[in-house]
Amino acid sequence: MSGMVVGEGDVLLVVDIQNDFCPGGALEVPRGDEVVPIINRLAARFPNVVLTQDWHPPGHLSFASSHPGRRPFETTTATYGPQVLWPDHCVQGTSGAEFHKSLQIPHAGLVLRKGIHRAIDSYSAFFENDRKTPTGLIGYLRDRNLTRVAVAGLAFDFCVRYSAEDAVRAGFTAVVIEDASRSIDIDGSVAATRRSFEELGVLCVSAQASPDRT
Ligand SMILES: [Zn+2]
Repeated sequence: MSGMVVGEGDVLLVVDIQNDFCPGGALEVPRGDEVVPIINRLAARFPNVVLTQDWHPPGHLSFASSHPGRRPFETTTATYGPQVLWPDHCVQGTSGAEFHKSLQIPHAGLVLRKGIHRAIDSYSAFFENDRKTPTGLIGYLRDRNLTRVAVAGLAFDFCVRYSAEDAVRAGFTAVVIEDASRSIDIDGSVAATRRSFEELGVLCVSAQASPDRT
């Protein structure tokens, strides 16, 4: 993995570092809390940082509990296509939806909440899972003249993946800081993520090697 030199046009997108995605949370990503100190150190080197926060209303479509007889990690068909069903997580205003208490990025310029519509999930920080409803992040990045998006956080094979893919499709350069991410890995989702990144030209880099060396 190669590193990257951070410039004024770069933004670090910190994905979903929330209690429910950390060990002990409702939808824990194994070892998800390990990325917190890595991301704190990484963010200190980026002048521009955006935090995303998964932020669902009660009864959200992505919750297995909203579908009688269905269980978490099964897949259902939403109006927009396949949708994995999750345990209830990141409900608006709950402690599970709060950022991990050790996350310290006071200079972050934007907290972007996603998954706010009851009938649509949102893995990507750019578009909800119907692939049509924008979150507004493209406009924010363009207005700020930010052209390269470095993505880190939880989980590598879902929200990090979809955010990096959409960044590329929207015309930005995207890199994923792989050692600042952790995976859920269901049904081959990590392998699928790597294949997709290769096809789209999303580079995986290491926080250890970035940003001081190319
Ligand atoms: Zn969610």
